[in-house]
Amino acid sequence: MSAPVLDVRALVKAFPVGRDLLGRPRDVVHAVNGVSFALERGSTLAVVGESGCGKSTVGRVLLGLTPPTSGEVVLNGRRVDNIREAERRAVRSQMQVVFQDPFSSLNPRMRIGAILAEPLINFGQAHSAAEAREKAEALLRKVSLPVEALDRFPHEFSGGQRQRIGIARALAGRPDIIICDEAVSALDVSIQAQIINLLMDLQDELGLSLLFISHDLAVVEHMAHHVAVMYLGKIVEHASRADLFRAPRHPYTRALLDAAPVPKIIERPERKPLGGDVPSPLRLPSGCAFHGRCPKARDICRQTEPLLAGDADGHRVACHFPLNG
Ligand code: SF4
Repeated sequence: MSAPVLDVRALVKAFPVGRDLLGRPRDVVHAVNGVSFALERGSTLAVVGESGCGKSTVGRVLLGLTPPTSGEVVLNGRRVDNIREAERRAVRSQMQVVFQDPFSSLNPRMRIGAILAEPLINFGQAHSAAEAREKAEALLRKVSLPVEALDRFPHEFSGGQRQRIGIARALAGRPDIIICDEAVSALDVSIQAQIINLLMDLQDELGLSLLFISHDLAVVEHMAHHVAVMYLGKIVEHASRADLFRAPRHPYTRALLDAAPVPKIIERPERKPLGGDVPSPLRLPSGCAFHGRCPKARDICRQTEPLLAGDADGHRVACHFPLNG
């Protein structure tokens, strides 16, 4: 097997909360708490979980929008979590992002031609205005938009079209990886399907690797090759899509699947609705962080944190009493 395009090792992102009189943080929230995963070249890894589980923070750290507290990020064999700002441009061209709301990430005062020319020139893919226009036209064709779009403004497009423009812009630097952060969550279901199919076609054509951050398990089941489930800053289950949807082992994953409108899930031997609230990340429970909501919790769960461990197939789970084991 070839080396992963992205290798994330023991990533931690902690945020100080409040300050005392001496300016010291009163508390610390570990939004990401020891996350490790590898993204294989040309594949899609979905990172799923409830709001606040840390999945979007993982994306922000990988993009260099906020520095990690500790851990390592290795991109194409090179460690990039500790590079200087001047070196970051090359990294940015290799790893791009598509956000949930394309409207807020497209400058409303710029025409689409200028929006696409900017990264083409910044990332060294075009060296003149004429070349930038020619390459911007090619980008629009890749996302199935007419070249006339170059002379229009973002507000003249529908939400789905704007997301296509966002994808075209992400492609401008010829990235290896696109991080899709809830990239289709704001779209109607029929438009969602079109954008997902576009991303999958582009993946096939360009060999892209996708890190797909989402709370939508129906979408994830459609397009992911592997899935990492996060709860309170940690990965609690990591498996191939087929294994995870057919036989989830963590009670949290089971509860997420039971709560999701996914018609393909037909085997549901232990349908227990997910009760309780997510604990405050400021006051993490002892032992397994999920024990207050878990129908299978026993004494050991309240005392000892389960570690992420797995089988030879790479199906890993952090649970003392995994399901389907
Ligand atoms: Fe539930 Fe215990 Fe497993 Fe945590 S370790 S998910 S509380 S069974």
